Amino acid sequence: MAALPRALELGHILQVQLRVLILRGHKTRDGVHLQARRDRALEKIWDRIFDLYWCTHVRFSGGEPSVYPDFWKLVAMLLEKHTVDVTTNLSFDIKKITEVVKPGALSISASFHPQFADMKEFLAKVKTLHFGGYPSTISYVGYPPHLDRIPEYKKLIEGERIYFKIIPFSGLYQDKRYPAAYTPEEKRLLEGFAKDSKDEHLNDMNTRWYEWRVKKEEKPVSKIKKDAPCRMGQMYAKIHPDGTVTRCCAGYHGEDSGVMGSILDPEFRLYDEAKPCSVAYPCPCFKCMVVGQEEDKWVPLWEALEHAEYKTAFMKEYAERIKENK
Ligand code: SF4
Repeated sequence: MAALPRALELGHILQVQLRVLILRGHKTRDGVHLQARRDRALEKIWDRIFDLYWCTHVRFSGGEPSVYPDFWKLVAMLLEKHTVDVTTNLSFDIKKITEVVKPGALSISASFHPQFADMKEFLAKVKTLHFGGYPSTISYVGYPPHLDRIPEYKKLIEGERIYFKIIPFSGLYQDKRYPAAYTPEEKRLLEGFAKDSKDEHLNDMNTRWYEWRVKKEEKPVSKIKKDAPCRMGQMYAKIHPDGTVTRCCAGYHGEDSGVMGSILDPEFRLYDEAKPCSVAYPCPCFKCMVVGQEEDKWVPLWEALEHAEYKTAFMKEYAERIKENK
C-alpha cells in the first residue's frame, strides 16, 4: 500500500491548557448548576473539531490537569472521538483513571519529581497503568542536584520495560541559567545517558531532547526560522488557559505570536496549509514543523495512540479510494 497522506499519518495535535473552560462549569448562577452546560459546550467544541479534522490527538500539558474537577470525565468524553495524552505527576489515587476511562486510547506521560514522590510507589502506579492498557512513560528533568540519581532510576524503570525520558533542565539554579550552565562533565553525563538504553527509539528520543535543548544554546542563530513555511498551526495548535489558540509554543502576547483565534469561537479553524513563520528569535519549539527542513526529522517523535474505531474506518475509506483510483 502507498504511504498514507502526511496529514492523516501524523494526525492533528491539539495541546490543551483549558483552565477557564474546565473551571467555569463549577460556578453557580441563580441556583442553576452549570456543570451540564459546561459538558455540553465542551462536547460541542470537540465534536466540531472531529467533523473538521477527523480524529485528533489531544495532549494535556502544563500544570497538573488532574486537579480540575471531573477532569477524567472530560478525558473520557474526548476519547469517544479523539486520542488523549495527559502529562501528570500522578499525585492522586489512580483509580480515578481506571474507574472512569476505558483503556485503549489514553496514554500517560508521568513526570517524576524526587522531592515530592517516592520512586517505588510512583513506579508501581505507572506499572499498573501501563500494563492495564494506558501506555505510560516516565519523564525526569535533569535538574543539577538530581543528576546523580539518574543511573539508579534508569535501571529500575527500564528494567520494567517502561520508557525513562530525560529532559535537560531549562531555568535558573543557584543564579545560573541552564542548560548553558551545565559543566562539560554534566553535559557528557547527560549525553551518555541519552544513548545507553537497549531501546533504540528511546535513545533517539532522549538524544533529540539533549541536542535540541543543550546544543541549541551553542548555535542560537541557526534556530531562527522567520519566513520559512511551517506546519505548526496546520498540524498542531496550542490551546491556552483562556481558550486562545496559537500555532506553536512561541509566546502569545506579542506581535510575532501566531495567535489563530479562540477554541470557543464557533468559526475557529486550523490553517489549511503551511504558513511562513513570523517569529524573529530562535524557534523555541521542540519538534517544530518547518517544511523540508524539520518536519521529517521530528515525525518519529510525534507519537499518538490510534483510535480503534476511527482508525479502522479511515483505513477502510483509504483502501476504497486507492481501489477507485486504479
Ligand atoms: S518555526 Fe518554530 S516559531 Fe516558527 S512557527 Fe514553526 S514552530 Fe513556531
